[in-house]
Amino acid sequence: MSTKRLYKIRTLLNGRCNVTEQVTFSGGSTDKLIPFNLYVWVIEGGEHPVLIDTGLVDVEGFNKGTAAYIIGGVTQRPDELPETMLSNAGIDPADVSHVLITHLHGDHCNNVGMYPNATVVVNRKGFLEGFPTNIGQGFMSALIPRWPDSLRLTGDEEILPGIRVFWIGGHSVCSQAIAVDTEQGTAVFTGDTCYMYENYTNDRPIGWATPEDCRRAMARIRMQADFIVPGHDPCVLEKHPGGIIG
Ligand SMILES: [Zn+2]
Repeated sequence: MSTKRLYKIRTLLNGRCNVTEQVTFSGGSTDKLIPFNLYVWVIEGGEHPVLIDTGLVDVEGFNKGTAAYIIGGVTQRPDELPETMLSNAGIDPADVSHVLITHLHGDHCNNVGMYPNATVVVNRKGFLEGFPTNIGQGFMSALIPRWPDSLRLTGDEEILPGIRVFWIGGHSVCSQAIAVDTEQGTAVFTGDTCYMYENYTNDRPIGWATPEDCRRAMARIRMQADFIVPGHDPCVLEKHPGGIIG
């Protein structure tokens, strides 16, 4: 009889910013700002660490492109810079076997070059529809040295025992959710289809989506999740002391 593999997921803080309520919640105001955290998650308990998203490196470029709705830009403390963040967590980037990308926006995928041995897992539909115009040049360059083994395009499937991905859309056509089995049940990482817990608990779509698409995506998540981990909610660190999930 095989025992089910259960994981713990460690939350790493990669920066913070303030985003307009209009982007965060459908119908929100442009004047009110909502605090966001930037995260990378490390799934531990398998043979190698598996990451959810890569973290952000080109903060200046990212801030230029998002100045209209991320007011004041992303800031990172020295310990939130990707290399320091990972080394403080005892993670060797070369040991990471998979990087599961929730979606192909800069704050989630632009540091992919830091993981030289990882298989990068991206939703197939989103990748093909976005290629080449919406796929960053830096993202592709990072994959070339080990092409085609560096990229795994996915539908709804198991990546490793107890770790699954499924397409949700709702924020971007490339948005996939990541379900991880833990001792506390199945944790679903929503990416930015839910920025905040409130998007999910109150069925309140994000502003950066068609509301019906976002509600459909959240309905799909409800079928899989015992609990969710939203993309940018600072409360993740309050709900999960020490940032340890599961
Ligand atoms: Zn994001």
